[in-house]
Parts: sequence; structure tokens; C-alpha cells
Amino acid sequence: MLIDTHAHINFRDFKDDGDEVAKRTLAEGVWMINVGAERKTSQRAIDYAKKYDSGVFAAVGLHPGHLANVEYDEEVKGEKIKFSSQAEAYDEKYYFSLAKQPEVVAIGEIGLDYYRNAARRELQKETLLEQLGLAEKLNKPVILHCREAHEDLLGILKTWTLVGNKPLRGVVHSFSGRWSQAEQYLAMGFYLGFNGLITFARDYDKVVCQMPLDKMLLETDCPYLTPLPFRGKRNEPSYVKYVAQKVAELRGISAEEVAEATTKNAKGLFRI
Ligand SMILES: [Zn+2]
Repeated sequence: MLIDTHAHINFRDFKDDGDEVAKRTLAEGVWMINVGAERKTSQRAIDYAKKYDSGVFAAVGLHPGHLANVEYDEEVKGEKIKFSSQAEAYDEKYYFSLAKQPEVVAIGEIGLDYYRNAARRELQKETLLEQLGLAEKLNKPVILHCREAHEDLLGILKTWTLVGNKPLRGVVHSFSGRWSQAEQYLAMGFYLGFNGLITFARDYDKVVCQMPLDKMLLETDCPYLTPLPFRGKRNEPSYVKYVAQKVAELRGISAEEVAEATTKNAKGLFRI
């Protein structure tokens, strides 16, 4: 069994066949956490989770990419990503009412994204801190998004946990940092999440090989970042098995061992 700890069948790309995708994913013995990025997709993640007796869970939160009006058409490692959204202001009451529902297993995705720099960095940091507060209030883990902002994110997390002495657990999803940064997240007890990127980009091999397996989570980030051998097609949660296979190959262990360890990690972190 595998768990896709970061899926987006709640996104528009799955509007016509999200339930079919969910059903065939579950039939393969794969569970999923659908992660919200703003109001609408957070609510939709819960709607999906409510429809299934088991195996489909939700995370809710406001992604830094939704703090400013954005429209972009970009390429990530040869993959075209189209995106547009209206700026949303973080509404604590709204997200609290979503987050306290039983299907919600985490606050996310939240974090910092300096890559496009659409929203002011100060606003991103404030919004992240408010949502760390929400996670604390509800005792839920966080799903962190970080792009080209690891030093600032590490600083915020250290201040929160070490200086503030407040508990915080979670995962840095689609981990993109260096080994020295991975070590710092791991030292604070955070998990690191990997997806199809590791099947076609070699930048993450060192972290994948060296980190302790008991802190690793697998994900797809579907519809994006489709693993080999399906590059160019829409990604979906069941493809998490290709991520597991790549981790196994890089670490020189069996895919079963990777599946067993990462599933145990996900169940423990998200209490599912
Ligand atoms: Zn995502």
C-alpha cells in the first residue's frame, strides 16, 4: 500500500473525472490527501474526502501563490504549467471552520514562494505565521510549500519551535533544497516529501539517498510533475508507485520496503 500525501484532484484539471480517478486510485490500494491552495480548492478537498468511507483525506490552507493576482504560463523542467488566480486575503474564521472538520488531516499547502515573487515577502510570512497558529490551535500538522525561500522558511520554523517553544509537526512537500537545508528541517523533526521530480531530475538524489527513511513521505503533486514514464501526460495519485520505485532504485532497497516505511510515516504524521 502507498499513500499519495500531496494530490490535487480537487483542482480544475480533474473537474470531469475526479471521482473516476479517486476510485481507480483506491482500487490500486493507494490512499490520497488532496491539498487545498485557496478557499475553493480547500472546500473541494473536503467534499472529496466526505464522499469516500476511507482512503481520501483533505488538507486546507492558503498557498502563497494566491496572495496576489497572478497569471503565468511557465515551464518547470520542461513541463508547461498554466495558472491564474485572484488575490485572496487570509480569513482566519473561514479556514478555522474548514480545518476543524474531521476529514481535514493537515493545514496546507502553506509557505513561501519567492520564485515568481508575485506577493510581497512580508505578506507571505505573515500569512504563513497565521496558518502555523491555526495548525497549533487545532493540533494538526502542516504541509509546507517552499520555492527559493528555504533560508527564510527555516528561520521562521526555528523561531516558532526553538525560540517560541511551540510544537509543530509537518512536511516540506516537493523538497527542493540542499542537503544542508534538509538536515536542518530533519533536526526539527520535519518530514520531507518527494514526487515525480526525482524520476527525471538528478538534483535530489543526494537528499533522497542520505536522509533517514523514517522521515520520508511520497507524493505526486498531481496534476503537475508527472513521473517517468508518463512525462507530458496529466499526473494522478496512483503514479506515486513510480516515485516509490525511484526511491528504491536510488537507495538500493526494494520498492516494498519504501512503500512500507513511507506509508507508516504518513499514517503517523497525519494520524490516519
Ligand atoms: Zn501542491
